[in-house]
Amino acid sequence: MSKGARIVLLGRQGSGKGTQCVRLSRHYVVPHISTGDMLRAAVRENSLLGRSVVDVLGSGGLVGDEVIIVLVRERLGKADARRRGFLLDGFPRTVAQAEALDDIADGSPLNAVIDLVVPREVVLERLSARRVCRDCGANYHAGPVVPSPWTCDTCGGDVVQREDDTPESINRRLDLYESQTAPLIEYYGASNRLFPVDGVGSPDQVFERLTTVIDSR
Ligand code: AMP
Repeated sequence: MSKGARIVLLGRQGSGKGTQCVRLSRHYVVPHISTGDMLRAAVRENSLLGRSVVDVLGSGGLVGDEVIIVLVRERLGKADARRRGFLLDGFPRTVAQAEALDDIADGSPLNAVIDLVVPREVVLERLSARRVCRDCGANYHAGPVVPSPWTCDTCGGDVVQREDDTPESINRRLDLYESQTAPLIEYYGASNRLFPVDGVGSPDQVFERLTTVIDSR
């Protein structure tokens, strides 16, 4: 890998990191690489990878490190990421993945690892109300009255609840975050690469905080 911005955004599911990553990738003109999006695309395509991960995704578990590391290694080897860098969303999620990323990025170290901090109660509420467009992936928040059928303002696709946004799956993912992903905070903190950013506030406020930190790098 050569030049460009190399940024990792950590944070609980539902912290708003996906939305912020879309905006940041446009702002810095770097590819937004979301392992969750890649896996969901594989499931939609019914590829070999998709068939092997569909149950894990549905239950809110974590896909095996080896599978994910191969996927990310391949993606980061592509021309856009080599040239422009990357904004990683949803990877790494374990210390083994973080070690693999250091190995992949060897010689072009990460510019910043940002921890988008949002308390568990807040994300639990947000995820339970999250709805997504099946076609373009746009995110919506379900209020007390949910339109039926609900069509996407952007593309007219069906707006649905993600299959892994059930209360059981959400709780499982948040538990997994505490046990597997929180140690990453220590991993990156120990090498002074970690920047916590308060993720509570309007999307504009959070974006401003993120760009301030990234620009300072
Ligand atoms: P996300 O969209 O980031 O919430 O990811 C959706 C699901 O994909 C997760 O609940 C995991 O099952 C799987 N997944 C995504 N990224 C990873 C990763 N880095 N390691 C393991 N599983 C992952």
